[in-house]
Amino acid sequence: AKAAGRNTLRFFDPEMQQAVTARAELEAALRRGLQQQQFVLYYQPQVDADGHITGAEALLRWQRPEHGLVGPVSFIPLAEESGLIVPLGEWALYTACRQLAEWARNPATARLQLAVNVSARQFHQAGFVEMVRNALLYSGAPAHRLKLELTESLLLQDVDDTVRKMNTLKQDGVCFSLDDFGTGYSSLSYIKRLPLDQLKIDQSFVRDIDSNSNDVSIIRTIVALADSMQLQVIAEGVETTTQRDFLLQQHCHAFQGYLFGRPMPIADFLSRLQTA
Ligand code: C2E
Ligand code: CA
Ligand code: CA
Ligand code: CA
Repeated sequence: AKAAGRNTLRFFDPEMQQAVTARAELEAALRRGLQQQQFVLYYQPQVDADGHITGAEALLRWQRPEHGLVGPVSFIPLAEESGLIVPLGEWALYTACRQLAEWARNPATARLQLAVNVSARQFHQAGFVEMVRNALLYSGAPAHRLKLELTESLLLQDVDDTVRKMNTLKQDGVCFSLDDFGTGYSSLSYIKRLPLDQLKIDQSFVRDIDSNSNDVSIIRTIVALADSMQLQVIAEGVETTTQRDFLLQQHCHAFQGYLFGRPMPIADFLSRLQTA
């Protein structure tokens, strides 16, 4: 704009142009990545009060050629905007269900639960419930070992659609966890209407347990709330024994975080199970 000559009309300045190009390139790379199966699931252990592994959260990673292993924060937002999250999320769910089916065939792993993240756009698609049912059906995974992680903002987008879809899947046995709990604005009366199984305390509250008394009282409140609604509560982002011990004191009995294991490839997760 500024540098534009007298008779030229420019709508984009070079920086904006660059950002638009980079976005388009990333979107094309994502599309290719899906076709060429460049995505993998990493598995982060979830543990009980004794540190025993009860399951895992499946987390997307992109093995992008010439970029190495790329984490979801750098591609999920664009995948959501472009709609690619729908096929990507479907791939993640099918992959997770195949893993669950395999675990179900072995007594040593049959009790493990697998949590899968679901994005708003994916959940509110017309065919979401059928997609989940098909993934369970074709893989042979037991529905009650599958836990879908939903966020508050997702749940608030279309309350009737949300309640209907959750109830249908709940009847099939699928479990639900409310991810990043405490960061949104859900009203309690609304949350009561949802067939939830678990509240997940956001890692931002866990991080500052030692130093921030506000976070301490928020955690107390969440645990009390979960108790009163008979929901399980899990804390994410647990990195230190101080944090774990505080959470235990507050009667939070399920944990996830670097203290117990980072997200890892399936082979590493399985060998971790054997040594645990
Ligand atoms: P999230 O669902 O809140 O997942 C937890 C994030 O915290 C993960 O980041 C995990 O690696 C990280 N984390 C776990 N323990 C610790 C810890 O002790 N300390 C710290 N500092 N971080 C910890 P990741 O894998 O980079 O995933 C980021 C986000 O991407 C996820 O946040 C989730 O919102 C999204 N995501 C990942 N996989 C999928 C997917 O398959 N579908 C969708 N829709 N979103 C996904
Ligand atoms: Ca999650
Ligand atoms: Ca989370
Ligand atoms: Ca989070």
